[in-house]
Amino acid sequence: MSVILFLIQWIGGVYCLNGDLEDVDVGIWVLCLFMGWIIIIIYIVGCLQTNTSSSSNSSPSSSDKEPLSPNNDYNTSQNLSKPTQDKQAQNTSKTLAENNESFYSYVTHMSDTELINTINNQYKNIKGSWTLAPHMGEYGSVEFAAVLLLWKYAVNNFVRNPESYASLQITLGDIICCAFFGMTAGEWSDKVDPILNAHSDIVSYKEFGNVYNYLRNNYIDKIHSLEFNDGNMQEEVYRQLYAKFTEIYNSTNGFKEMLDFYTSKGLKIKDDIHFYVANDKNDILKHTLLRKWKSKKRNLEEDADIQQLPPLLTDKFYISSYRCPFCGRHMYKTVFPIGGEFPIRTADGYISMKRVFTCKTCLKFFTPLPEHKLSCGQYYSLKLKTLDEYKMLLETFDNHGTTDGRPDA
Ligand SMILES: [Zn+2]
Repeated sequence: MSVILFLIQWIGGVYCLNGDLEDVDVGIWVLCLFMGWIIIIIYIVGCLQTNTSSSSNSSPSSSDKEPLSPNNDYNTSQNLSKPTQDKQAQNTSKTLAENNESFYSYVTHMSDTELINTINNQYKNIKGSWTLAPHMGEYGSVEFAAVLLLWKYAVNNFVRNPESYASLQITLGDIICCAFFGMTAGEWSDKVDPILNAHSDIVSYKEFGNVYNYLRNNYIDKIHSLEFNDGNMQEEVYRQLYAKFTEIYNSTNGFKEMLDFYTSKGLKIKDDIHFYVANDKNDILKHTLLRKWKSKKRNLEEDADIQQLPPLLTDKFYISSYRCPFCGRHMYKTVFPIGGEFPIRTADGYISMKRVFTCKTCLKFFTPLPEHKLSCGQYYSLKLKTLDEYKMLLETFDNHGTTDGRPDA
């Protein structure tokens, strides 16, 4: 296209120059040049706009933008003046008609750099000048990355079905923000499912699962290097922030304050907030007990040299010969009596736990696969986000456990 415009311009120029070089002809030639350049510039700007709206936000400079309030992309799409929005809608719908791609296809067609940049840029745009970072952890960070990509996908496809995609954006914006306010990765993860179920016309639960697996299988290390994996919150700051957040969130009159708060951050949230944040001890315990234990493969080292260590952690948790696979310290364990096995939810469904091991440094619990020993190289584990949660669960297991061994694995 540019080549054709250059040719027209060149032919126009040559035609004018070939005539008698009178003042009028030079004037027309200058006008030709001028008009040609205007058309070229309009064309280039048009191309750039189409690329920006159809491709992901992979430009490194976009992370240098001024700090933005949470949910910035949503604001951008809402604040556009109507003519601009209509024009963009025309451009984008043309692109969409050409490649009506699914969420999975959108993600898997990105290059490595494009994918990680898209995740990180969306994260940074939403974070803006907020100083705290979510701590999503080993698997939570992969799910968080998948949600950020879904968010970007919803932004890109807004014009396809404004009602449905806007609803997806608002609800995703809602939970993305909760991660910044200290919601635990487990609680956070539980909020994703209802959103997917409510927007199955855009992305099915299975498709989201496929994207999650794709990210986990191919990009887990890169995702773990992003800020939201480890977060930057001191335990005390986190605890205070989260306590305040849940307090406002759950108070009956507090919805208004919460909405005001969100609005001040630039987020429009629906009145019918569809989830509830646990804020009393029983709720938290109930929730913690429902957390899904992850299935892991890793060899656990046994070391019988435990004489120097305190024999008991609590009444019923006693020193074990296994070392924590993460920090290497000796773990403590309790044994549930025959008939008193403790049910837990795992990636493979409910199982009855006969023994549970714990590392108080890593805030983790471990249990072997049914009929196996911990040394078999595969186990289930649960990482607690806060010391409070950890202590609560430790106490619960302690109440049900014993220091008496049992013969069966
Ligand atoms: Zn440990």
